[in-house]
This record gives sequence, C-alpha cells and structure tokens, in this order.
Amino acid sequence: MKYTTVIGLEIHAELLTKSKVFCGCKNSFGGRVNGNCCPVCAGMPGTLPALNKKAVELAVAAGLSFGCAVSRLTVWDRKNYFYPDLAKAYQISQLYAPVCLGGGLETGGRFIRLTRIHLEEDAGKLTHTRGGTLIDYNRAGVPLIEIVTEPDMRSADEAVEFVENVRRTLVYAGVSDGKMEQGSLRVDANISVMPSGTEKFGTRTEIKNLNSFKFIKKAVEFEAERQAEVLDGGGAVAQETRRYDEASGETFSMRSKEDAHDYRYFPDPDIPPVVISDADVERIKNALPETPSARLKKYAGYGLSVADAGVILENKPVSDFYDACVKAGADPVAAANLIRGEILRRYNASADREQIPVAPADIADALKLAEKSEIDGGGLKTAVGCMYLERKPLSAVLAEKNLFVKEDLSLVSEVVKRVVSENPKAAAQYKEGDAKVLSFFIGQCARALRGGALAQTVRAELERVLNDGD
Ligand SMILES: [Zn+2]
Repeated sequence: MKYTTVIGLEIHAELLTKSKVFCGCKNSFGGRVNGNCCPVCAGMPGTLPALNKKAVELAVAAGLSFGCAVSRLTVWDRKNYFYPDLAKAYQISQLYAPVCLGGGLETGGRFIRLTRIHLEEDAGKLTHTRGGTLIDYNRAGVPLIEIVTEPDMRSADEAVEFVENVRRTLVYAGVSDGKMEQGSLRVDANISVMPSGTEKFGTRTEIKNLNSFKFIKKAVEFEAERQAEVLDGGGAVAQETRRYDEASGETFSMRSKEDAHDYRYFPDPDIPPVVISDADVERIKNALPETPSARLKKYAGYGLSVADAGVILENKPVSDFYDACVKAGADPVAAANLIRGEILRRYNASADREQIPVAPADIADALKLAEKSEIDGGGLKTAVGCMYLERKPLSAVLAEKNLFVKEDLSLVSEVVKRVVSENPKAAAQYKEGDAKVLSFFIGQCARALRGGALAQTVRAELERVLNDGD
C-alpha cells in the first residue's frame, strides 16, 4: 500500500543569554567540565531559582518572529522525572501557560503551523563510557525554547526545509546561535504514516534528539519506511519513543511513549508568574530585524531567483549588506550578482564571518560606473577586491589602481586593422557568414590592446572593418 508520512516537530533552541535561566552561571558552550555550575543549577536542596528576564524576552522575540500570540501572563511548572542529567529530579518548564501560542512559518509554499513555544531549562550532558557515565552540568539550566509544530509536514525534505527556516529565523532575531553541531538546536520528530488518500493519522512514534539536517532527513525516511512495513505485514505501530542510531541509520525503541500526566506536572512554587505588558511586546517587536521570510518576499520582488535569494539569506551579515547596497541605490540584480561572486568568496574565507568591511554606497557607485562602462568587468572585480581586503574607499582604489577605462580609439582602429590583415583566412570565413570567428578576432585584439579598451568598442570596430573591408 502507498502511505503518506505525517510529521510534527519539537525544536529545542538554546537562547543567547549571557547567564543561565535561573542562576548567574555563565551560559557558554564548552569550557571546563562542571566549571559553569553553582548550587542552583546543580540542584542542591534548599537553593532558590531567580528568573533571568532576558530569557523571557528572547522567547517573546522568537514568538513575534513566527507571528505567535504572546501570552500576557506566563507561568512555570515542574516536570518531574528522575534521571542523572537533571540533579533536582524535575525540570522547570511551562505546560499550562506557555509564553507563546499559534503562529507558523511558510516553507516551500506551504504554511506550517506552530502550536506553541514554551520556555524551559536545559539538562546536563551525559557521556556514556565503558567505565561508567560521566556528567557535565555546564548545560544544566541553560535557557531553552521548545517550538512545537502541528503535524503539518508530509515529507522528510519538507521537515528539513522547515527546520532550516526556523533556525535561520531564530539566528536573524538574535534568539539563538542555531549551532546544531554544538547542540544549540535539537529536534524531536513525531512521525506517523497513513494510507495515501485517507485523513486519519496513524499511531505516531517520537524520535529524540536529532542534531543535524542530515540525520533529520535520514531518521524520518527510515521511520516512515519502517512503519509502512509494519502495517503492510499486518502489524500495528506501537506508540513509543525511539532513538536514531547515526552509525546504522536505523531507529531503535527506547521506551513506551509517556504522556504529560506521566510527569506529574504542577505549578512551580519558587518562581512567580511573569506578566508581559503590551509595552514589553511593542519594545521587543521594534528591536527585531526584518525576518528572513519577509526578506525572501522582498528579494523575489526585486527579480532575484529563489537560488540567489537563498544564497544571500544564508548569512544575516550578507543579507544586511545586500539590503544596505540596494538602499544606497545599487541595482538589486547587479548587486546580488556581485555579492554572490566577489563578496561572498571573501566573506566565506574570513575568520569571523561577521561584518563585510566595504561601504554599501561604494558598491552602489562601483556598479553605476560599470553600468556606464567607465570601468569594465575586470576593473569592478579589482575594485571590490581592494575595498574588501585593503579596507580602502572606492575613490582611493580607483585612483590608485587606475581602473577607469581610457580608450584610445585610433589605437583600437589600428590594432583591429592589423589583426584582420594578419588573418585573411578568418576574415574570409567571417564574410562567408561564420560569425563564430568574431570571438577569435576579439581575443586577438584584446591581447594586443592589453585591456586598454572595452570589449564592446573592439567588437564594434571589428564588425565595421570586417564588413566594410575598410
Ligand atoms: Zn548555576
């Protein structure tokens, strides 16, 4: 039988706060094992958590970026479970009044709905070795948002594209660094299959902790295939939590799936509810940059292809730079081409991938000079290279490198005549209608002129001489 895959995601994103969510310990990746811990995040009895308001603000910023409704009162709950990655045996989370509800994100032409975004604390990191399990509590208490979607995705590729989109949106908003390789963004995937053409969802399984786009794709594809085989064999899919094994590319059962009531959630008595005012929401909204989705629409309006827009949107500093160039008067398509080539090559090679050290107005001016043929393609490349690497303004680069095209028309005419007379066979071919030899002539002339004239001038002169025999 043919099946349709149904996918809902829970995306966990660590927030870019300086300190942890309920204590003053540093929130940073790496560092000395158990070096960023205190009695609060190590779960010592008798300690009291104090909320980091910045975490709430970043969660609100995430919600606004996805068009969610922001709760005006958000409260905290204890999710009870006993496991060594969480020393106090409960996680402070939000079940009943999450910080954001609803919203969604258009991906590949379809709108994927969000159910909610809630705040919680991350757990410590366990490393299983032959000698036993090692625990690093540096990650315990790092603020997380969990973005929960509706079961709106229908393929592994769509799920991957959605996560890429979410990740980019969070990075643009400054909510998370989105570094999957460091565990800043992790995905749980809920997967079920149903016979194609039907509407009723099948029993779902949840695959925990997918930490790369590649693994999301492979795990979803494997799991959908596995469930289809179970159903085709006359069996029933068990509701369970599974893990994806990166080495074998298969999913394995971990435990039967727990429901919310299994965790005995109850309101946390240590942290008061948080009131979020209209003024708070307005202030956070005003500080947010334009979302990548909005920029994508804008770029399509400029006439950029989806591929070009995607390349520019990949890194926020590049997109910001592009927007600034267009604002400074650059032609959007010409600027996109220049950024894709000359700028991106240098940006990608830079160590920090932060700022692009060229004034956007200089890019706009350089493109205008090229459009007016005052500098040629090679000159434009040289100008951009010098501005980027030597940090010099366009005016200085133009003067220093002598980039303006200065055409000596009598020299062009002389060279063209000489080249044509030296190649009578090719000239005859041209006259017989073989237009391809023109590029041979252009090449010969360009070599003789050593860049002293524009290609279009040489071409026009060549055509005149070849046609008129003058
Ligand atoms: Zn701490």
